Amino acid sequence: MSGCGSNNTPVTDQAESTEQTADFSTQTPSSSEVQTTDTEAPTENIPSEELQVGVFDLENGTVLLNSGYEMPILGIGCYRLSQEQAENSVYWALRDGYRLIDTARIYGNEEGVGRGIQRAIDEGICTREDIFVTTKMWTSDFDNGDAAIEASLKRLNLDYIDLMILHHSQPSNDVEAYQAMERAVEAGKLKSIGLSNYYEPDDFDRLVNATTIVPALLQNETHPYHQSKLMKEHIAQYGTVMESWFPLGGRGNTQILFSDETISSIAEAHDKTSAQVILRWHLQAGNIAIPGSSNEAHIQENCEIFDFELTENEMKQLTEIDRNERFADY
Ligand code: NAD
Repeated sequence: MSGCGSNNTPVTDQAESTEQTADFSTQTPSSSEVQTTDTEAPTENIPSEELQVGVFDLENGTVLLNSGYEMPILGIGCYRLSQEQAENSVYWALRDGYRLIDTARIYGNEEGVGRGIQRAIDEGICTREDIFVTTKMWTSDFDNGDAAIEASLKRLNLDYIDLMILHHSQPSNDVEAYQAMERAVEAGKLKSIGLSNYYEPDDFDRLVNATTIVPALLQNETHPYHQSKLMKEHIAQYGTVMESWFPLGGRGNTQILFSDETISSIAEAHDKTSAQVILRWHLQAGNIAIPGSSNEAHIQENCEIFDFELTENEMKQLTEIDRNERFADY
């Protein structure tokens, strides 16, 4: 097992023994597992090291979501992977110690992801409970959310999905789609739910105000040149965490970030690659990162980021290279 596995303590279904230390909204998450404690004095049942919603645990490689579930902060992304590539990438990642997997209905590889998971389980690398699987509901399915959830479960060959998110904002019917996900939480088919590609605070609030369960997570394009400061600040009031897509800039753009002078000089100082420095920056900045790759060596390299730390000054330098510029136009 490589560097990322040893500290990456598994997740999910821990909610019963996990205390939330803050109550983030007037809305009550419907997941029965969530314990809503306010500010009572600690009791003997509370773990000595209290977990706080949204605070990254760099030692264990996890964050406590506002749904009450723990989520790994580093995962494997599956965009643009074929079924076969997805199967292999997921299998390699689980073998290397990753416990978070990100896919989507629109990627057309949920079956491959499911096969990669099954292979790892069959080989005793992990159990279903150890891992955290995310998929996304595509916009053309928003009018038929219940069926879309069932179809993803079937393709992934899973009894439940750890996190499902709406793939894009779509004001005409995203509330209905989100409500389908809320029903699936009640039914135990989804553990946590959230959003992707909501770039305006008002748009995020529109969805939140029309629904019941506060989104656990927002997945937006986020990297050193687009640090998502506004949305991160906005969602923090809900205890919602940011997850970065295009954490390395995305296919075709990675060299722009890798050759950035600030990034490459910090990488040299730590004897790490630019990719590793960017990923470490994400985690220290409070962004869950899901780098995509079909390359076995890159998958391993990307998780070897728990054995070094960026200094305060390096984090400051990296904050300063933000251009608030996205690479993608969607
Ligand atoms: P990314 O920023 O992770 O970059 C992927 C590119 O980096 C690939 O070309 C890969 O070969 C290369 N790469 C990976 N590790 C490397 C390394 N160590 N050295 C050199 N090159 C390396 O972009 P991504 O994969 O598109 O995004 C990450 C994940 O986010 C996706 O796989 C997907 O799961 C998710 N995503 C979500 C949305 C959304 O709309 N919600 C959009 C895009 C991606």
